[in-house]
Amino acid sequence: MQAQFKLMAHSANARSGKLLINNKELTTPAVVFTGVNTTMLTNQELQSLGTVAIKQSALRYWLNGSDVFGDLHDRLNWAGWIIGDPGCEQAYRWAKPRGRKKDGVSFHEPESGQQKLYKPEDARGWQDKLGCDLQTGFWRWEDYYSPVDDLQASAKHTASWTTEKGDNTLLPIVGGGLKRVRQASAETAIKQSPLGYAIAGVDTEVKLAEQVRLVKEVVGMLPEDGLRYLPTSGSIEHVLMAMINGVDLVDSDCADEAAQHGVAFDGTKRIHLAKEHFLEDSAILVDGCQCPTCRSGYSRSYLHQLQSDHSPLANRLLASHNLYVLNRLVADLQDAIAGNRVDEFVKQHALG
Ligand SMILES: [Zn+2]
Repeated sequence: MQAQFKLMAHSANARSGKLLINNKELTTPAVVFTGVNTTMLTNQELQSLGTVAIKQSALRYWLNGSDVFGDLHDRLNWAGWIIGDPGCEQAYRWAKPRGRKKDGVSFHEPESGQQKLYKPEDARGWQDKLGCDLQTGFWRWEDYYSPVDDLQASAKHTASWTTEKGDNTLLPIVGGGLKRVRQASAETAIKQSPLGYAIAGVDTEVKLAEQVRLVKEVVGMLPEDGLRYLPTSGSIEHVLMAMINGVDLVDSDCADEAAQHGVAFDGTKRIHLAKEHFLEDSAILVDGCQCPTCRSGYSRSYLHQLQSDHSPLANRLLASHNLYVLNRLVADLQDAIAGNRVDEFVKQHALG
């Protein structure tokens, strides 16, 4: 089944659209939840907190190789969208420089020590087998700040694999922060008229201002009607700023990540519950918040205590709250785009 992407509204540089496949519909901009394998929340909880899409790495399943793995919607009991990831970043991080081959990436698997050659057709075959609603094309990972030669080699290898695309594949655009390399990579991808594009290789350590600069630059190279995906798990500001600058899907595990550090979101502000003064604070975590944690009446004082005790419950309660807040903010951004009020949204959440 071919997925379709239809743009519905624009406001400033942001846009909102509908992504459709079979009987499933997703409104963009949307967050792709990446922490499925490590989160304290069940998939049912993720869904009830507003999560619409999760990410799965083909590399993990390919390495295991078991025939047990079929369509992940059944296995994970997940009715929402599954975004396939070839797992290139992990595979290339395991590889030595000479492992960056013309036909894939060669590395020693850390667990077994076995030599493996992971190819674009393996990544595609497994994303098919796992029933991913959208797939991401294979690309040669390089650190964002790699030397020019390496980034050019990355664009060259990636371009040679873009002919591998299927109907629902987002084609990767690589090139670190270098405009001319990104431009060449984008031109190769655009020639294939894919469903959309993945702005690949923007590592999590790339600072917000640099990410915004790059997103603006790459978005300017892309056709209006293609879906734009940023597969980078940054902070809540990284997520919102990518969307405000015209990206339709953005990876994130920031809700879980903040929860693990005892941090609760209050809009885009942070409450650091480890601070001593919260022991005396009997107020509800965030007044007026409709998440399960706040509606159940958990106080800041109790959450501070759970946090100090390193209780797994603190992580669960905060992850629920944070994910709800993140998804609520994105829903508010969708409304702001529909009502042409994005500039107001930016000011209201101090994102300017
Ligand atoms: Zn809450």
